[in-house]
Amino acid sequence: MTDEKAQTQEFKLDSDCELRFEVESKNEKVTLELKSGLAEVFGTELVKGKKYEFTAGAKVAVFTWQGCTVELVGKTDVSYVAKETPMGLYLNCHAAMERLRETAEKEDTRGPITMVVGPCDVGKSTLCRLLLNYAVRMGRRPIFVDLDVGQGHIAIPGTVGALLVERPSNVVDGFSQQAPLVFHFGHKSPQANVALYNLLVTRLAEVCSDRLQANKKARVSGIVINTCGWVKGDGYKLLTHAAQAFEVDAILILDQERLYNELVRDMPDFVKVVFLPKSGGVVERSQAQRTEARDQGVREYFYGSRTPLYPHSFEVKWSEARLYKIGAPVLPASCMPLGMKAEDNLTKLVAVTPGPNLLHHLLSVSFADSPEDDVVQTNVAGFVCVTNVDVERQAFTVLSPQPRPLPNTVLLLSDIQFMDSH
Ligand code: ADP
Repeated sequence: MTDEKAQTQEFKLDSDCELRFEVESKNEKVTLELKSGLAEVFGTELVKGKKYEFTAGAKVAVFTWQGCTVELVGKTDVSYVAKETPMGLYLNCHAAMERLRETAEKEDTRGPITMVVGPCDVGKSTLCRLLLNYAVRMGRRPIFVDLDVGQGHIAIPGTVGALLVERPSNVVDGFSQQAPLVFHFGHKSPQANVALYNLLVTRLAEVCSDRLQANKKARVSGIVINTCGWVKGDGYKLLTHAAQAFEVDAILILDQERLYNELVRDMPDFVKVVFLPKSGGVVERSQAQRTEARDQGVREYFYGSRTPLYPHSFEVKWSEARLYKIGAPVLPASCMPLGMKAEDNLTKLVAVTPGPNLLHHLLSVSFADSPEDDVVQTNVAGFVCVTNVDVERQAFTVLSPQPRPLPNTVLLLSDIQFMDSH
């Protein structure tokens, strides 16, 4: 190796310090290894001597409560040790939640429902991951809810979902996505259809509430909710709606005092509103990096990350596809049929005629068998991506995790596109 930074770097960390590093260059790999002591990555303990491989886009913090030595092999674009971190405050939040779980366990009630809010790039998803990992390491089984349609940590961008967390997240890949509950939204920002977004949040809250009812361990453990970075104006209204729908007990606000003050003002007294500083390590992402992270999420859905997946590619006849989208243009009230509100159109199922307009779009495969079902509020089984449209043969080609044929169910068109470059 010619590059000096591509060599091995060793770091001795004192207690309560963290090593932060980033991998930026494409095709670059950086291996992390814990040599001695104890350390964790966003709440997941590292196994001594195990090699963790990170690729482009990774922004990682290795934190130690006790002190440790770690080694990085490969070219990092940034790597430094920070002594100042908000981890003590984050641990306090976990401790407070854990006390509520103990009470819930004794009194057979519900554990804490905590929502994490704040603008973009303040570490919301990371804090959720930390709190979930700490809970699961205490033997809890919390539910993770992700309302951030921009990144979509549970499935792919353009969806909201929930996941029962049964083991700490993978150091490299995050939480394993076995049997998540996912709803199709179809846009990368809630702004694109606020009425639909709120409807799905309400639906997701109902389903989560049912799951808590049915599972004592989950009920005692509670829910951790991640939200979008859109916190102004209508975005703020979405947050208060989500707080109501999930009947949250606590809201953790990262970084923004104005948002904190608004929530203190607007939330009922029984909701604890807590301000937390963001970590100096959280990296701001440009629009391009955000788009790349979104693409990366979709790529991993189809192709896997460390364990490669081999998706299928096959043709679907237009006549065989039952294609819909959610939301028709809002008409002036005077044009609406009697008894319907203008917003009703935003949550309506609308048939889509296949054509070149489908190219590169993601389609959600609904669990609904027929358009007569309540498709909008039915969860989805998975996703396919349209990789080619052949107008002459009246067919399109899809990339699909499942082999042919496409299940004979309703497909929902997403605004979100993915260019398959494999
Ligand atoms: P948000 O959810 O608010 O948009 P994220 O939690 O996704 O923010 O964090 C943004 C990025 O910063 C992620 O890539 C995450 O891995 C990284 N990050 C978070 N905390 C740290 C830290 N302490 N050190 C280094 N990178 C971090």
